[in-house]
Amino acid sequence: MAEENLKKPDEMFEVSLTPATGDWMNPAVEFRKGTYCYGAPLKHQKYLGLPNQREWQPADADWKLPPDWKETILEGMERLIKRHRSFRLFLDICVRCGACADKCHFFIGSGDPKNMPVLRAELLRSVYRRYFTPEGRIFGRFAGARDLTEDVLKEWFYYFYQCTECRRCSVYCPYGIDTCEITMMGRELLNLVGCNIQWVVEPASNCFRTGNHLGVPPHAFQETLGFALDELKDLTGIAIDAPINRKGAEILFVAPSADYFASPHWFTFLGYLMLFHEIGLDYTWSTYASEGGNFGLFHSMELAKRLNAKIYAEAKRLKVKWVLGGECGHMWRTLHQYMDTFNGPADFLEEPVSPATGTRFENARSTKMVHITEFTADLLYHNKLRLDRSRNDQWKITFHDSCNPARGMGLLEEPRYIIRQVCNHFYEMPENTIREKTFCCGSGAGLGADENIEMRLRGGLPRANAVKYVKERYGVNMLACICAIDKAALPPLLEYWVPGVGVCGVHELLGNALVMAGEQERTTNLRGEPLEAGDGENDVR
Ligand code: SF4
Ligand code: SF4
Repeated sequence: MAEENLKKPDEMFEVSLTPATGDWMNPAVEFRKGTYCYGAPLKHQKYLGLPNQREWQPADADWKLPPDWKETILEGMERLIKRHRSFRLFLDICVRCGACADKCHFFIGSGDPKNMPVLRAELLRSVYRRYFTPEGRIFGRFAGARDLTEDVLKEWFYYFYQCTECRRCSVYCPYGIDTCEITMMGRELLNLVGCNIQWVVEPASNCFRTGNHLGVPPHAFQETLGFALDELKDLTGIAIDAPINRKGAEILFVAPSADYFASPHWFTFLGYLMLFHEIGLDYTWSTYASEGGNFGLFHSMELAKRLNAKIYAEAKRLKVKWVLGGECGHMWRTLHQYMDTFNGPADFLEEPVSPATGTRFENARSTKMVHITEFTADLLYHNKLRLDRSRNDQWKITFHDSCNPARGMGLLEEPRYIIRQVCNHFYEMPENTIREKTFCCGSGAGLGADENIEMRLRGGLPRANAVKYVKERYGVNMLACICAIDKAALPPLLEYWVPGVGVCGVHELLGNALVMAGEQERTTNLRGEPLEAGDGENDVR
């Protein structure tokens, strides 16, 4: 969407909460530019062997659906209901109490009632009732049931691709209904009739082709690693080694591919390399498992499983003992909730033990995979690193809990512990916007496409609003996070709603503060910006 067509923040902020007239059961979706994602290109559908391949776009009047589309969806629904007990449970037990209604960032930012989690789920639940419950079959609309029509299918597409699968609503539901899972099932069903989006299918297809979402081939990965090492040599005066595809290393390190290609991710990447050198970690990168993220998760369980498989396959091939993973969001949801049953058990790996501190990561006993913030927090706790916090003094920092590490795996304290160790100025956003209650960036689950910018800005409004609060109250000028999608989505979001606040990774902050053995005097931070003289408080220790 051209920037000149984008509303100004004051106009975007004006959200009407007046309920729409008419019956919500009659779908009438307008695919307005800026509020939906483009369909997946045929070549990527072909590459992944997806069903009902064709060129199509959501705004087309004719979606060129296969003749048996309705039967396909209903059979698919029956299969999913039998396969996922949670799906059936979530469809059956909602009492429409409304506790979740105002908890979704898309509802807050758009005012569209169908972005209330309860109503989003009802879009699918109403069809479930019609075909799979006796009362729905007999009483139809009186029992909250409706026929599956092409307009209903279009409505599903519109609203299931306006849910970032963030799970915030589930925190507030007294029954624990996870609308994210209903969205996931809705997307699975849409995929059966060839309705999926470019921003999910293309990265997934790239991942199959080259090992990562960005489509970076092995030699380019090697080159980019070389650039990073050159940059670090200039900055620190230290020649750092970063092994690739090294058999027999103790640890396989897997990061989201954006870390080694995008900005500000790049500075987190530098931070990892510095840390691993400093503690003499026996590890390796992989060109095959060169992606921690998993866009398959936003498409279907099957695709998520296929993409996830390469991490264990590469760990086995390289004969490592365990796996360490970088700053990524949905990689950890996949790992924490599905990896064991997708592709485990990883009996050929060992229970992870930090070679630097001897800490046994019992929480990773079954997956054999440890999050980088768990690993680094443990190093700091055992005083294994020398730090100069004043090198981060130019920033007043707040922390955005990325939805998946926070709600998907309960990783709340470790990143905060690291930030407090490596920075002098850290401020929390309001309590109802952090930790389990964190607000999504508005661009997760494959919705970070440029063409979807209005919806992303609307969905990101509650997060930006909380950042604005700490900016105005404490002068916060930097937001740290541990997710590659956040690092891509939050800079334009904050530029729009809260100009003057940057975005960084936690390991960028660590890399700045890390005093490496034999380093030359540092005059700049990892971004090449001159270091400000610190206030002397909590400097080198
Ligand atoms: S909070 Fe739970 S039970 Fe209440 S309306 Fe939302 S999903 Fe239904
Ligand atoms: S999972 Fe997140 S985006 Fe989806 S309905 Fe719930 S709060 Fe909204």
